[in-house]
Formats: sequence, structure tokens, C-alpha cells
Amino acid sequence: MADPAECTIKVMCRFRPLNSSEVTRGDKYIPKFQGEDTCIIGGKPYMFDRVFQSNTTQEQVYNACAQKIVKDVLEGYNGTIFAYGQTSSGKTHTMEVRMFVRLIYSNLLPVSKTNLSVHEDKNRVPYVKGCTERFVCSPDEVMDTIDEGKANRHVAVTNMNEHSSRSHSIFLINVKQENTQTEQKLSGKLYLVDLAGSEKVSKTGAEGAVLDEAKNINKSLSSLGNVISALAEGTAYIPYRDSKMTRILQDSLGGNCRTTIVICCSPSSFNEAETKSTLMFGQRAK
Ligand code: ADP
Ligand code: MG
Repeated sequence: MADPAECTIKVMCRFRPLNSSEVTRGDKYIPKFQGEDTCIIGGKPYMFDRVFQSNTTQEQVYNACAQKIVKDVLEGYNGTIFAYGQTSSGKTHTMEVRMFVRLIYSNLLPVSKTNLSVHEDKNRVPYVKGCTERFVCSPDEVMDTIDEGKANRHVAVTNMNEHSSRSHSIFLINVKQENTQTEQKLSGKLYLVDLAGSEKVSKTGAEGAVLDEAKNINKSLSSLGNVISALAEGTAYIPYRDSKMTRILQDSLGGNCRTTIVICCSPSSFNEAETKSTLMFGQRAK
């Protein structure tokens, strides 16, 4: 068992730069920063384990967010890294999977083309039926598998005439190691979760099936929020079973695991309300 003091949830916050359409519209750059862990929006401070200003590089984010988890996974722990935020806040940019797998030789489970159901094996461990699993033994093969998974994600969503903002993407990197001299085996899992956009349904003007889907996304994000805040509070009952996603992630969230959430924010005055709600989600996990 890991040292309980190590089983904390880390919450990082990242602001992207203003994009060209925000600049053209004349949006203001609203966040202010204090030290390395606080951002201020509308005079209100929000504190995290770390706050990354807009000029932070991928390398710096990787060093602060991912390096420790990757090291722990290679030592046999499970971990999950989430990117949370409204569409276009920088989630996919931040979860650049290549950043995470440079050093890992692994089994990888890419997303599949259809809506997959969650099943449980005879020990009640959840697994996803219909997922494709690839055995890989070089970083290049990992990259190829990631591209294949991304292409599948794309296929799954073109029918819904939009892209990744309406789906969660979960990559599982399963690292299995064997010391040929001692025959000692180690295995650790790392989930990389690029969440669906967290924006409010009302803002997107969705109707019909799209509206139902948006409500489902909001529901699964709020279930995730409930699980994470229960873990952060140390509550005995953790409502993992309330959503498909938390059931899938159950063995890599809480307990003997490493969890990092990267809260992704737009710095634009136009998105102030969504940014505040994103920051509040992150605060619940502290
Ligand atoms: P999301 O996945 O949250 O919808 P993306 O990661 O696709 O958002 O980012 C939206 C756009 O902003 C992309 O073109 C991306 O390259 C750019 N972007 C996001 N974060 C940054 C950043 N930190 N620095 C520079 N460009 C960024
Ligand atoms: Mg995205």
C-alpha cells in the first residue's frame, strides 16, 4: 500500500493565451496571477497546487504535472490525469499524449468506434467491452496506436457533425514490466482523460438528440466532480457507480492511485462566466 499522505489529488490550472478571434473581437485578458499557485478573476483568488500562466510551455506543464505520475506508474502504481474545461480552453493541447509516452513501452487501449458498454468481470472489476488492445514494444508503436485511436474517435463523432467537444476521450497506457533476472513483475496503469467540453448546455443552443447528449455529458462531468470531491474529503462512500466514466476509472482514482486534474481556462473576458465555473470545479477537488 502507498503512503496515504501520497494519495492526494493534485489540481493544476492552466490559462492559454488569447486567440486571434478573441483579440480581433477586442476581448480583455482577465486573469491576474499571484505566486505560482494563485490566479485572480474578478478580484477573487483561486488557489491550486500550481497555476500556469499563458506563456507556459508544454515541457514545463509536463515536468510539473506528468513526470511524477509517469514515474509512479513505472513503479507499479495506477494514475489518472484529467483535462477539464470548456471547449477551446486547451484540454487537447495540454493532454498531448505524445508528451506522456515518450519513455513508456506499453500496452495501449485506444478508444473504439462505437459507444461501448462497461462490463464487470467475475471479480467485479469493470472493463470496456469492444475496445481494441494493441501490444506495443517501442515508442514509435505507441505513437502509431495513439494516431489510430484518435482516428477512431474522429470516426465516432463525424456522425454527430462536431468534433471532440461532445465526447470524453480515455487513453489507457498499461505498463507491464518483468525483471528477467529476478522474475519480479510490475504493472501500472495510466489513464489520460481528455474530457468533453464543460460549457453549459444553454450556451450551445442545442436541441433534440444533441441536447440529450449534452445533458448526459453534463451529468457525467458532475458525477466525476462528485467522485473527486468525495475522494478529496475522504468520505467513506465514493459514488463511482454513478457514471460509466467513473466506473471505468475506478481502479485508478483514489486509494492507491495518483490523480492529477488540469483545469484549462480561456483568459478572455468573453468567457469569464465559464472560466469561473471551471475554476470552481477545480476548487471542489481541493
Ligand atoms: P479543447 O480541447 O479544450 O477544446 P484545444 O486544446 O483544441 O481546446 O485548444 C483550442 C486551440 O487553442 C487550439 O488551436 C490549440 O492549439 C490552441 N491552444 C490551446 N492551448 C494553448 C496554449 N497553451 N498555447 C498556445 N495555443 C494553445
Ligand atoms: Mg479538445
